[in-house]
Amino acid sequence: MPELPEVETVRRGLQPALEGQIIKSVTVRCPKLRIPFPKDFAKRLAGKKVEQLSRRAKYLLMHMEGGGVAIIHLGMTGHMRVISSNAPIPGKHDHVDFCTTAGATVRFHDPRRFGLMTLTTEKNLATHKLIKNIGPDPLGNDFNDEVLSAALKGRATPIKAALLDQKTVAGLGNIYVSESLFRSGISPKRQAKTVQGGRAEKLTRAIQDVLRDAIEAGGSTLKDHVQPDGELGYFQHHFKVYGKTGAPCPTCDDSAHIIKKIVQSGRSTFYCSNCQR
Ligand SMILES: [Zn+2]
Repeated sequence: MPELPEVETVRRGLQPALEGQIIKSVTVRCPKLRIPFPKDFAKRLAGKKVEQLSRRAKYLLMHMEGGGVAIIHLGMTGHMRVISSNAPIPGKHDHVDFCTTAGATVRFHDPRRFGLMTLTTEKNLATHKLIKNIGPDPLGNDFNDEVLSAALKGRATPIKAALLDQKTVAGLGNIYVSESLFRSGISPKRQAKTVQGGRAEKLTRAIQDVLRDAIEAGGSTLKDHVQPDGELGYFQHHFKVYGKTGAPCPTCDDSAHIIKKIVQSGRSTFYCSNCQR
């Protein structure tokens, strides 16, 4: 499942091919992904200029001339690839092509079809059902330690679960929550409500640092993430705890303290019980 850094990497990779370009045609080859395509999806985009390609949590937003907005989610296995010219014959899982008048094709490939594409308008975007309940973007201007403390206040749930909740902060999944808690020295089992003051400050900084480092590395390629130019992401080589069960803790730096794996609300968590409190 791509998390925020992977989606941001895709956005940055698609930007040169789409922003300021005119969509010549859109070809949709299946009736639905996770949800059906809107009627006239292709028709409503064709002939329009892409004013901006932005991101809200894990959704890509294609802001069109005239006020339309395409909402795109990569699901579990979705890729978007830029083909500069002469797109090859589409394969079985190549469900959508966006062709620009400049000759580029942005091809959406999704074997499991858990991705989605739908349409809204600038006016209705903030209240759209997919968007309205999403918490602040951790790399945006409306996220800081005060916002995080307020969101965690009074919550009698482990901090790991609270951070996976997209209303607390948007775009984090298992990987980056594990890494952020490790960097801030906070136990994934700690009650969310006790992460206040200095701890909330440390955690905020850790979340932002981990995400920025991951974006810098092109995201993490565990299963399906590929950048739009076909490059893999490399942040998986920088994981400190995720998937490192049994490895010595890089902070404690002695063989007595190893990374443990526990299961919290059905998801694996990796941490060091010595330096994460
Ligand atoms: Zn440790």
